[in-house]
Amino acid sequence: MSDYKMNTDCIHAGYMPANGEPRNIPIVQSTTFRYATGEAMGALFDLEAEGYFYTRLANPTCDAVAAKIAALEGGTAAMLTSSGQAANFFAVFNIAAQGDHVVASTAIYGGTFNLFSVTMRRMGVEFTFVDPDCSEEELAAAFRSNTKAVFGETIANPALTVLDIEKFARAAHAHGVPLIVDNTFPTPVNCRPFQWGADIVTHSTTKYMDGHANAVGGAIVDSGRFDWKAHADKFPGLTTPDESYHGVNYTERFGLAGAFITKATAQLMRDFGSSPAPMNAYLLNVGLETLPLRMERHCANARKAAEFLTAHPKVAWVKYPGLPGDAHYALAQKYMPSGTCGVVSFGVKGGREAASKFMAGLRLASIATPVADAKTCVLHPASTTHRQMSDAELAAAGVAPDLVRLSVGIEDAEDILRDLEGALAAV
Ligand SMILES: *Cc1c(COP(=O)(O)O)cnc(C)c1O
Repeated sequence: MSDYKMNTDCIHAGYMPANGEPRNIPIVQSTTFRYATGEAMGALFDLEAEGYFYTRLANPTCDAVAAKIAALEGGTAAMLTSSGQAANFFAVFNIAAQGDHVVASTAIYGGTFNLFSVTMRRMGVEFTFVDPDCSEEELAAAFRSNTKAVFGETIANPALTVLDIEKFARAAHAHGVPLIVDNTFPTPVNCRPFQWGADIVTHSTTKYMDGHANAVGGAIVDSGRFDWKAHADKFPGLTTPDESYHGVNYTERFGLAGAFITKATAQLMRDFGSSPAPMNAYLLNVGLETLPLRMERHCANARKAAEFLTAHPKVAWVKYPGLPGDAHYALAQKYMPSGTCGVVSFGVKGGREAASKFMAGLRLASIATPVADAKTCVLHPASTTHRQMSDAELAAAGVAPDLVRLSVGIEDAEDILRDLEGALAAV
């Protein structure tokens, strides 16, 4: 593990050039790697020697950036994926297959909810969704004998609820399974879920980590602490020979520190091929270098926007976990004392119509679906992503007709507030 602090690791972790080598992580834009003998390459295929042979499985640029993210989260191993969707799919499917069951928070990204409740269910994995604010008893009641994992988001997109990581970790461990946490919104700068008992962390690096809306990407990090062997009957894929990979036993060969990520690479990346482009990994690394600076500004600006909106007579409600009085403020203070994220949601008085007028009055903030990058942007789900739904259907989906999701960027706070003020005046 690194001896340096977060600000330093964001710059240096994962890559240290030797004499005369490039100071920046080189973009190794090559699908293949040359070997002098068939035997040398065969040892790589048997996972007996370390080295590169095909970029779908591993690439030096991607590995250096993955190592940086592992250091930032305080994990033992990490892999990059082509998207956050692939990261969450791999993290769960690596230990839960047909006939298995997973407990997940209801407050998760819509794409993840669809992946779990539709696509993975079609693959034979069952999910039970629990309210993240449920009691310990309600949480315990969700487990079954075939439960293989628990899943939640540190700060949920777009609900902005905060996961009680310790409560979820206790329940998972009491049932002999790991807690997987999607840490996309706070990033390791604001929260390191491993410190609170999480076992696996995932990211959509598309958001703050990249930070400039340059490249879609994802990451999985392993804490190396979950003892697969102590629950070997639940996790045969990690504790018995993999006949599809030369009979390798991942926990025997790679230990607790490396088993999970090696299996996800050797099996899932091999078969599903959701590998990131080296160029995208390079862009992600450029973003990571300034992550602490940007998160500080995102959080400061979002706090100002949340305070401004709370005080505005045309605003019905505001949800921001970094704001005193918010239902999740206490949990946010515990898990993210130095800041939460830059996303604020609020309602404009007058419902769907008023929210549409507000959107039309913005000049600086762009209307865009993505969140969590340098540019302030807004989304009104009822008139865009969810426009086909009636107010009743929206309510059932947990999206208020007046809900505006504001992703606060790193522009000057005064300009952002002036933009909000002007747009609200036009409502
Ligand atoms: C965006 C997002 C995802 C999906 O990531 P992509 O990179 O868009 O595939 C997963 N989880 C959270 C919390 C997200 O915000």
